[in-house]
Amino acid sequence: MAHNIQSDPHGFKRRGVLFVLSSPSGAGKSTIARKLLAAETDLAMSVSATTRPIRPGEVEGKDYHFVDLDGFRTMTANHEFLEWAHVFGHRYGTPRAPVEAMLKAGQDVLFDIDWQGAQQLHQIAGGDVVRVFILPPSMVELEKRLRGRNTDSEEVINGRMARAAGEIAHWDGYDYVLCNDDADACFEQVQTILQAERLKRSRQTGLIGFIRKLNRTLMDD
Ligand code: ADP
Ligand code: 5GP
Repeated sequence: MAHNIQSDPHGFKRRGVLFVLSSPSGAGKSTIARKLLAAETDLAMSVSATTRPIRPGEVEGKDYHFVDLDGFRTMTANHEFLEWAHVFGHRYGTPRAPVEAMLKAGQDVLFDIDWQGAQQLHQIAGGDVVRVFILPPSMVELEKRLRGRNTDSEEVINGRMARAAGEIAHWDGYDYVLCNDDADACFEQVQTILQAERLKRSRQTGLIGFIRKLNRTLMDD
């Protein structure tokens, strides 16, 4: 699925990275994602579709595509999703076409999706997928962050806390597991992972040509 990207200063072509961030709700993955998108010009966000109601402050088309159940079902029937899942009683899915377009345009793609989405994406795109799981420093801190965000009702917060342990149980389905204690430090770790993954030999499809050129120069000397 991944297309070749030419973002390396040496001009080496490489396969695009599908970079997944998951965490129990409130651990801070949106915060980290925002910082990463601001810092990394070759990274674009996959905007999911969801049937959950829009929260105060959220923007249609930026945070999510907010669709009703019929609309979501139509998209599913038309195979418009790369993956989709039930989360917290609502449906969430990753529209396929924008992801393919972003990869074709030479960008890596960032996904804020849960463990079910990470698993499905890995089944489809295997080695192009990098999965990062973000843990809260403690459950007390997780609840504090959910309350501090001021976006959910008491009932929704209790539901998210009740499901947090179940989500954390999927930590071993990820390539990297980090603890978001300090947001800046966690962001730096995530950025380091992305930068290192971009340099993986298996992604650098342009290396062979460069090495052949190096060898030719050697023989010409
Ligand atoms: P998620 O996307 O995982 O649901 P958010 O990024 O919305 O979580 O973060 C939940 C709340 O916690 C937000 O109010 C955010 O500003 C805050 N937050 C995120 N990371 C940290 C951190 N390292 N320390 C303290 N507060 C944080
Ligand atoms: P929220 O309602 O807090 O925005 O998101 C709830 C959960 O749904 C989060 O864990 C988030 O990562 C997950 N999620 C968001 N979009 C998708 C998606 O397209 N697919 C899957 N599988 N999970 C998603």
